[in-house]
Amino acid sequence: MKLILPNPRGFCAGVSMAIDVVDQVLDLCPGQPVYVYHDIVHNTHVVGRFKDRGVRFVEDVSLVPDGAIVVFSAHGIPPQVRQGALGRGLKVIDATCPLVTKVHNEAIRYARLGYQILLVGHKNHQEVIGTSGEAPEATQVVETPDDIPHLRIDDPTKLVYLTQTTLSTDDAAVIIDALKRAFPDIKAPPSEDICYATTNRQQAVRTLAPMCDLTLVVGSTNSSNSKRLTEISATAGTPGKLIDDASHIDHAWFASPDDTVLITAGASAPEDLVSEVCRTLLERYGGEIQSCDVFEEDVYFAPPAGLKQMMREQGIDPKSRAIRVTKPDVIEAEYGSVALTISAPGHM
Ligand code: SF4
Repeated sequence: MKLILPNPRGFCAGVSMAIDVVDQVLDLCPGQPVYVYHDIVHNTHVVGRFKDRGVRFVEDVSLVPDGAIVVFSAHGIPPQVRQGALGRGLKVIDATCPLVTKVHNEAIRYARLGYQILLVGHKNHQEVIGTSGEAPEATQVVETPDDIPHLRIDDPTKLVYLTQTTLSTDDAAVIIDALKRAFPDIKAPPSEDICYATTNRQQAVRTLAPMCDLTLVVGSTNSSNSKRLTEISATAGTPGKLIDDASHIDHAWFASPDDTVLITAGASAPEDLVSEVCRTLLERYGGEIQSCDVFEEDVYFAPPAGLKQMMREQGIDPKSRAIRVTKPDVIEAEYGSVALTISAPGHM
């Protein structure tokens, strides 16, 4: 079996930062209860591993005891949640991805300027709940073009669209085109809201899936960007399967031991799970790994202010505790890999 592994895959800068925040808090506060509002990232293994280390996950900050530490997840929160936590004197550390915060700031700014905001995204996704919460009166969520006739528009010349950061770029383009047709004066966000990590992982699948018989996406069912990768593969003509880990592989998916399989991972899926999937397939079918560098990524986010403050209170220089990032080359190093050269269009 030929396994094609694209770079980039797996953890993005926002996920690395958010996971590192919880890791660091556990190191800094041994024995103290640590709470996280919502899943820190949408991956069952990441959340399960933190639960095993004593972290408690809540969907309501009122469940966090007075004075305890609470970390906000990478997806962002509506301002009421922050106010509720600060009002009760909780020790708040905000691990919201800066690229999500950027969309929050756009929502706040356009609402202040008197614009109605059409937020392209999935209504029940935590990120959309957080962004909408910044300007609830001004914001309406658009999930599909079918929602457009039902929008309540006061002034079609005072409209802006924003998007969830983890949408399929294909789906978003269809909805944005429909919005532009319905409201020719609608403003676009000042810069692209769909983030670099989503765009690059999708473009890698779009480029490589046509060379493969099947795409396996390592990620959880509640991970928006992971689900989108299976859809992008299907649109490129190659079936895509979402698996949480190697135990979810169904060997009936493979037509032959000589199949070529693209193995990627959503932005919240740890690399050791990708390695486990590769090992499982190579041990059963034999074969080789081909490693394909589609885009280079060099994005890192600084730790949030609340974590730096906690370090300073303990006499630790935050600069001495750099964010710990999982390198995406573990399995290639173990089995050796052949470099696959491709030319990929469009890099963000
Ligand atoms: S997928 Fe994009 S927006 Fe979401 S945490 Fe990663 S970098 Fe941030």
